[in-house]
Order: sequence, then structure tokens, then C-alpha cells
Amino acid sequence: MSRFDEYVFSAQPGFDEPVMREAFAKAVPLNTVVIYCYDPRVRDIPEAIARHFGEVYPGEVIRDQDGRSVGSTTTLATVSVAAGRAVDGLRSITVAEYLFGIRNIVVVHHSNCGATSFSKDGFVRNFNHEHSADISACYDHGSVAIVDYEQSLAYDTAMVRAHPGTPENVNIFGLFYNTDTGELTEVVRDLRTA
Ligand SMILES: [Zn+2]
Repeated sequence: MSRFDEYVFSAQPGFDEPVMREAFAKAVPLNTVVIYCYDPRVRDIPEAIARHFGEVYPGEVIRDQDGRSVGSTTTLATVSVAAGRAVDGLRSITVAEYLFGIRNIVVVHHSNCGATSFSKDGFVRNFNHEHSADISACYDHGSVAIVDYEQSLAYDTAMVRAHPGTPENVNIFGLFYNTDTGELTEVVRDLRTA
């Protein structure tokens, strides 16, 4: 027993996993997952992506008669990670598909991102010097720094496509976001929807 068991679906008496999964699938009409940078300057990316693709974001939280949050009208799930690199969003893509089902995955990289301010070698070397820790084998080397946005978007969208946890029939997009103007430029469009 834990203090928070009452908030755990699977800890409830009579929990039925298939029934629960069906209920979850109806709780959010999810359509698209967007992966973007946690840089506070680009916090408007989800709204910009929602306008670009016709998605609903942030939508409204749906409550039942007891006031409990039971769903949302949003169609966009956001994954905010360093530089918006896809490697950090792969598990979230798989979970979004499993719980709600998705049709599109959008990777966004933005101008003057912090990840363009260092090289992967400098990153590893300096971290080692400052923290006495070797992180050289910790991260996918192609996902650490950004040296070319066309290359980083091609790399990340290909990584998402190749991942076994990505549903086969999703469309994958790679977009460049201008941090100063909010303008989006589509760089990669990989369509699969029948
Ligand atoms: Zn950034």
C-alpha cells in the first residue's frame, strides 16, 4: 500500500486493463505529437504548430460531475526537450500512440538554439572537466549539437521513422521555427496516411 494508491488506475478494485484502455482512447482526441525545444523563448511553438496543422491546443479540460479531470479537447500533445531533438521524444511518441492513437509527428528546431552554440566534442570534454564524469557514451552523437538545421531535421525525422515504437502509418514533419518572428518553414514532409 502506498499513500497515493487511490490515484492509480491499476490499483483500483476491479481494474480491467482492456476496459481502461478503451476509456483512455476516448479521453483525448489526439492527432499530433510535437517535439520542440524547452528554450523559454520558443514557448509559443505548440500554438504555432496548432495553427499550421489545424489542431486544437491547448483545448479545454473536461470534468465529470464530481469535478474530476477526465479528458481534454486538445488534439496536440507536446514534448518539450533540449533542442527539440527527437531522441528524447521516442518513448513519448510510443505512449501517445498506445493510449490515444496519433496520425502526425512534428519535430521543430528553432533559430539560435543553444544547441548551435557548442560542438559534441566540446560538450563532452567540458562536462568531463567540470563534473569529472565521462558522458562520451551516454548520448547519441548525432543528437547532441545542431550544426545545420536541414541536417538536424532530416536526422531526427529519419530517426523517428526508423524507430520500432513509431506507428507505421503516421506522417512525419520537420519544421524550422524562427525564434524572432514565429515563422515556420517546412523542411521535411514524410507522408504515410493512406
Ligand atoms: Zn533550443
